[in-house]
Amino acid sequence: MRGTPCRLGVLLGDGIGPEIVPASVRVVDAALAAAGADPIEWQELPLGASAIEEHGSAIPDTTLEALAGLDGWLLGPHDSVAYPEPFRSRLNPSGTLRKHFDLYANIRPARAFEGGRAIAPGTDLVIVRENTEGFYADRNTHAGTGEYMPTPDVAIAMGVFTRPAVERIARAAFELARRRRNKLTIVHKANVLQLSSGLFKRVCLEVAEQYPDVAVDDFHIDAMTVHLLRRASAFDVVVAENMFGDILSDMAGELAGSLGIAPSVNASDERAMAQAAHGSAPDIAGEGLANPIAMILSAGMLLDWLGTRHGDRRLADAAVRVEDAVRSAVRAGVSTRDLGGTASTGEFTDAVVERTAARA
Ligand code: NAD
Repeated sequence: MRGTPCRLGVLLGDGIGPEIVPASVRVVDAALAAAGADPIEWQELPLGASAIEEHGSAIPDTTLEALAGLDGWLLGPHDSVAYPEPFRSRLNPSGTLRKHFDLYANIRPARAFEGGRAIAPGTDLVIVRENTEGFYADRNTHAGTGEYMPTPDVAIAMGVFTRPAVERIARAAFELARRRRNKLTIVHKANVLQLSSGLFKRVCLEVAEQYPDVAVDDFHIDAMTVHLLRRASAFDVVVAENMFGDILSDMAGELAGSLGIAPSVNASDERAMAQAAHGSAPDIAGEGLANPIAMILSAGMLLDWLGTRHGDRRLADAAVRVEDAVRSAVRAGVSTRDLGGTASTGEFTDAVVERTAARA
């Protein structure tokens, strides 16, 4: 990446965010150094409850403007349920960032690892979730939301499916399948929602014609929950609309271990946002009990995304180091309380940082 600017934002967020995000920065710095890559220039920006207090907005305009000039960023979880009104009723910070930057692909791997308490230890799949439309009505319109209430006793929510959005998420999923085991599953509900979910399925199958090397199957969302529970290890890449993908990825994350280890990136073609799948865990915030794995692995995915975008193998190498170091630490019996261990967030991070120097 020499000559290519690699500046990343740091958004600490709320709750355990100020613990797990700096932990991830430390691991990324160590992995980059071990891989011989240039260090990243980090830029901390306000977001969340502290930003409401200091700037009158959970995502100040200055934060959005600064992020627009960056390759990507780490987003800590937000405790938007605890925000005072009117902030609580607005689109939450991660939804706002996804919508503002059109981060259309939410990539959510679920990969079990030794010592990770997996329900289904053979799980190694990736949910590719469409992030901009579908059944999440609070983000599927240009202005306002797709939810409305004609009377206090009637609520209507709109689902939106468009060919361009389905095409691009399907392409992202097929490209990923090509980098993995060349297998892709389309999840939909076209038997009931024949027009909307039907369009999603049809367009995915059309895109499939450009990827004859990828084996394709499809399941209705309800049946898919059963297939995942019974044989998670049979799946590789799974593509789904916004809400189905969200729900399935929590389930897949739990099958692979726990929510505390489930990472993700949200990406457009220009930038990517690393974000743990879990929330701000206010019940344990500030106590050094938070498991930083999901955030660290998300930061590793961001390195991988940057490596692909910039064609820099050292970034890809650093990404592998991040994941290997986490796995090695857990395998060695170092883990936080949620995984049955006794390490604090800081102690676990130390163990991961130490291991970034070695490649498995
Ligand atoms: P949560 O994910 O924050 O917590 C659920 C349970 O899992 C809690 O017991 C928590 O202690 C535990 N947990 C979560 N992450 C953990 C970690 N890294 N290490 C150890 N334990 C962990 O879900 P919630 O309690 O429903 O939500 C709390 C807040 O987070 C709410 O305001 C919610 O809106 C928000 N939230 C934010 C995001 C996000 O930022 N993307 C996602 C989900 C929820």
